[in-house]
Amino acid sequence: MIVAMLETAGEDQIQGVIDHLVKMGFEVHRSTGARQTVLGAVGRRIDFDIRDIEVLSGVQLVHRISSPYKLVGRSFRPEGTRVILPNGVEIGGKEIIVMAGPCSVESREQLFAAAEHVSKAGAKVLRGGAFKPRSSPYTFQGMGLDGLKLLREAGDRYGLMVISEVMEISQIELMLPYIDIFQIGARNMQNFNLLRELGKIRKPVLLKRGIAATIEEMLLSAEYIMSGGNYQVILCERGIRTFETYTRNTLDISAIPVVHKLSHLPMTSDPSHGTGIRDKVAPMACASIAAGADALLIEVHPNPDQALSDGAQSLYPEQFSELMGQLRMIAPAVGRTIG
Ligand code: PEP
Ligand code: MN
Repeated sequence: MIVAMLETAGEDQIQGVIDHLVKMGFEVHRSTGARQTVLGAVGRRIDFDIRDIEVLSGVQLVHRISSPYKLVGRSFRPEGTRVILPNGVEIGGKEIIVMAGPCSVESREQLFAAAEHVSKAGAKVLRGGAFKPRSSPYTFQGMGLDGLKLLREAGDRYGLMVISEVMEISQIELMLPYIDIFQIGARNMQNFNLLRELGKIRKPVLLKRGIAATIEEMLLSAEYIMSGGNYQVILCERGIRTFETYTRNTLDISAIPVVHKLSHLPMTSDPSHGTGIRDKVAPMACASIAAGADALLIEVHPNPDQALSDGAQSLYPEQFSELMGQLRMIAPAVGRTIG
């Protein structure tokens, strides 16, 4: 950490800041220039709030150099993390993994039709919500346990791994036998009790960025899971809320290379929630791959016009096949393969 003192700071203020930093456990290196004094604080502590230093008397600015997380940071595993699913499929390797399926599991017919199609088109993971976080309590809330059973059955039938959202701690046990990846939705990114519980299990967790969360906050949420011992974490950009209203959210494509620089964890992009508009999903999926995404999460419905949730952003099956064709052309240009 670097602490620049005000030009007007007196010796007593400088000494006060040094004493404070030493008490916090830092070794302090002082350099006194012609105009102002700069303090370099070196230490292993990461559990501090720089605002506590910023408000000390005589301080001009404070710059943090070390990251506030340790397990999630790139330096923990410079070579990158590969999350390996039970059937050997790897997320974070050379192959880009496509996870696709309906927003919600609605019926056997709907789910099986979606699963068959996305599997044939090259997806490796079947998505589908059994517990749905809906903005309104009066809309479809998901099929619950019946939905989980259908997901497992459809996944097994069509050779797909299964991802589904967990909304609360009590659902973890219930879901364990049926799903391969736990999805933490945007609304729960900072549900720290839930994150801690998922740190105790040994199944992959896909953590979505909150609608108003910074990248650093997402990484700190991932740290909650990893600090419990579960290192199989996958991150996901799914759009953030901005002043733009044309799209449902603003898909922050730049979060993909930023996360790759800061963290070793695989990074997914969800252009369905990121745009909310069906015909914007494919271009943003292509852009995500070009930007280095390790995986995509895409909503596909056999009959989107009848969907019980997120129909407007769900691809028709043919659109999904067409998109996979485009992705197959883009992947090699960025040194990747795709199923
Ligand atoms: C979903 O994947 O259907 C979902 C609810 O996503 P998010 O948490 O990103 O809104
Ligand atoms: Mn959805």
